[in-house]
Amino acid sequence: MMPFEKCPVCGGELVEKEVEKLLRGGIHTAVIRVPAEVCLHCGERFYAQETVSYFEQIRTRLRRQETAKFHLVGSFFAVTDS
Ligand SMILES: [Zn+2]
Repeated sequence: MMPFEKCPVCGGELVEKEVEKLLRGGIHTAVIRVPAEVCLHCGERFYAQETVSYFEQIRTRLRRQETAKFHLVGSFFAVTDS
């Protein structure tokens, strides 16, 4: 199911965790919680192929403004003055 046994970046140990992933499509951003393999050494995240396909579906829906089934949880701000 998961693509790697060891981190392909550094060779570190991977643990399965639920992570938050931000997805952007067009002007919209969505956040989802998905399982990922996370490297204990470098923090790199790896996703199963079906999870990556799911990201793509969500990005496409965001680009097409097909957001009726998503839950609005807040506003997304761009900070331009610092
Ligand atoms: Zn690593």
